[in-house]
Amino acid sequence: MIKMTDVSKVYTIGSESLYALNHANLQIEDGEFVSIVGPSGSGKSTLMNIIGCLDVADSGEYILDGQAIESYSERELARIRNRKIGFIFQNFNLLGRLSALENVELPLVYQNVRGKDRRARAQEALARVGLTDRLDHRPSELSGGQQQRVAIARAMVTRPALILADEPTGNLDHRTGLEIMALFHEMHAAGNTIVLITHDGDVAGQAKRSIHILDGCVTEREVHV
Ligand code: ADP
Ligand code: ADP
Repeated sequence: MIKMTDVSKVYTIGSESLYALNHANLQIEDGEFVSIVGPSGSGKSTLMNIIGCLDVADSGEYILDGQAIESYSERELARIRNRKIGFIFQNFNLLGRLSALENVELPLVYQNVRGKDRRARAQEALARVGLTDRLDHRPSELSGGQQQRVAIARAMVTRPALILADEPTGNLDHRTGLEIMALFHEMHAAGNTIVLITHDGDVAGQAKRSIHILDGCVTEREVHV
């Protein structure tokens, strides 16, 4: 699903060059549940932006689902993001004026899925995350855990090749965070490929495999077998 070879991202401030990502090598197979863990400033956002096709590397090769990413224009990258990746964020990033159902329908609007089909698929995705009785609620009428469930349904509704989650439990209390992690385990069991980015070692340890990042250097470490 993901293959990165010798990927670097360098920021230059004055005469100083800083490797936010330093010759990173990374391979993630179809159907894996992998965490990427590192402290603040280690390069997680930089790596996430490259994996998520929000940014391109300065050097090296990144292949996502068989496509070499660095050769694409901004417009094509947007298309790849929309078709291949489901994003989940710490702050949920739901639209406040839309209902739960409308938020989940939105990525399908961008894919030109028709009204009736779109609604049915959004309802099914919300049922999978246990929110059938909250379809017409707006984000402000939902708890943090429920809002994250809506965001997960929105990420899943396009059946993306990759689910990319950035600190998905960062704004949730411990118990709610565990419920969201349980949902990730269900999604993994259903065959989804999940990459979870976090600074929290306990959260990272729940994935099947953890990749560590420190000062832009990526190291693989098997946590669970
Ligand atoms: P993390 O997400 O783990 O906190 P980042 O990927 O945000 O780490 O940052 C990695 C390093 O790159 C840090 O030292 C950070 O200061 C630096 N950095 C990130 N973005 C920029 C930028 N736009 N300009 C300059 N330096 C940056
Ligand atoms: P089924 O056996 O009914 O086909 P699967 O669990 O195999 O169900 O999943 C079918 C599709 O639904 C898959 O493409 C998967 O990406 C998607 N899916 C899985 N889990 C969820 C979820 N929690 N929310 C929305 N869609 C999901």
